[in-house]
Amino acid sequence: MRRRRVPEMEQRIHLVPINAIEAAFLDRLALCLEERFLARVELERALSVPRSAMNSTRGQLFLSTLFGKVQRAHPESDGVLLAITDYDLYKTAHRFIFGDADEVQNVAAVSLHRLRSEFYGEPPDANQLFQRTLKESVHELGHAFGLKHCYNVRCAMYYSNSIFETDNKLPHFCEACDRRISRARNERSPRDG
Ligand SMILES: [Zn+2]
Ligand SMILES: [Zn+2]
Repeated sequence: MRRRRVPEMEQRIHLVPINAIEAAFLDRLALCLEERFLARVELERALSVPRSAMNSTRGQLFLSTLFGKVQRAHPESDGVLLAITDYDLYKTAHRFIFGDADEVQNVAAVSLHRLRSEFYGEPPDANQLFQRTLKESVHELGHAFGLKHCYNVRCAMYYSNSIFETDNKLPHFCEACDRRISRARNERSPRDG
């Protein structure tokens, strides 16, 4: 069998800010995700999504609408697209979602809307917002790389139904999920044999 030479595997994550998101916040997120996934994280230009794209009755943005826009803006993407948005997101049969991912289409999204302490009537807390965003981003990228939900309440792949559950989990995977993601990523890498 002819061996195909493949350079050291390098997966890419493209961070796609929806409208204006603070640059320092995105830079810090990109660095942490790079370290977490050992992947190259590229910060893309902000994608403009007007308020008219929202479901006006719900005051929320439909997840599939967002995924469609992100994919149309990056048709030749060579990795996972992770959209970061201030819009409150929902999908069918869900009142709201913190985020979601489509493993087949390689697209994911995280909403900051319900991660902000102001949403719960508390004063702004930039560090808390960052930690929550990191946990939900690690979670959605975990899905994009093939992980399912985990029953370990401290694991990033635990399904958060409320902000308390997000706060209670850690911004990384448990040992079992760590092993699963390494296996899944190796299977996806373009190696022969
Ligand atoms: Zn999930
Ligand atoms: Zn886990």
